[in-house]
Amino acid sequence: IKPLVAIVGRPNVGKSTFFNRIVGKRVSIVEDTPGVTRDRIYADAEWLNYHFTLVDTGGIDLASEDVLLSQMRAQAQIAIDTADVILFMVDAKQGLTAADEEVADFLRRFKKRVILIVNKVDNYPKLDNYYDFYALGLGDPWAVSAGQALGLGDVLDEIVSHF
Ligand code: GDP
Ligand code: MG
Repeated sequence: IKPLVAIVGRPNVGKSTFFNRIVGKRVSIVEDTPGVTRDRIYADAEWLNYHFTLVDTGGIDLASEDVLLSQMRAQAQIAIDTADVILFMVDAKQGLTAADEEVADFLRRFKKRVILIVNKVDNYPKLDNYYDFYALGLGDPWAVSAGQALGLGDVLDEIVSHF
């Protein structure tokens, strides 16, 4: 049975864009409108000689800040229960938000491997506000641009090192 890697994070941070890049196909829907991914989408992925299942999560609607947070917690809980490695994605363009801090606090309570990915670092290696994300207490953030396909190899090396 292949390891399961789940991507969690706020709507619009680029989870589905990242998912499609890693899977190498346009499996998941990328939308400018937050919350478009329906439920969970699974696909086979591989890097070097490692095969794993990547899970994109979504289904969040932005009824209110409270609903967003409770849905993100539910999303994170499913990842904790089922995934071998959790990718927690944040957005360098929007910067650190209160919702990111809440979810990071939640994820830190469990003994699951969490890899913090800072997406939308489009002018890599210029790191924008990347350093702010150390405050989440999840170790070194990994800077990527899913849109520009930058930094993905390094984060894939990190992911498979935990299998
Ligand atoms: P999700 O809601 O987390 O699944 O986010 P999506 O993958 O649907 O992306 C939300 C928006 O961010 C879309 O307009 C994407 O084109 C855009 N986006 C995704 N990755 C990047 C990136 O690396 N840089 C920039 N500038 N935009 C990105
Ligand atoms: Mg999505």
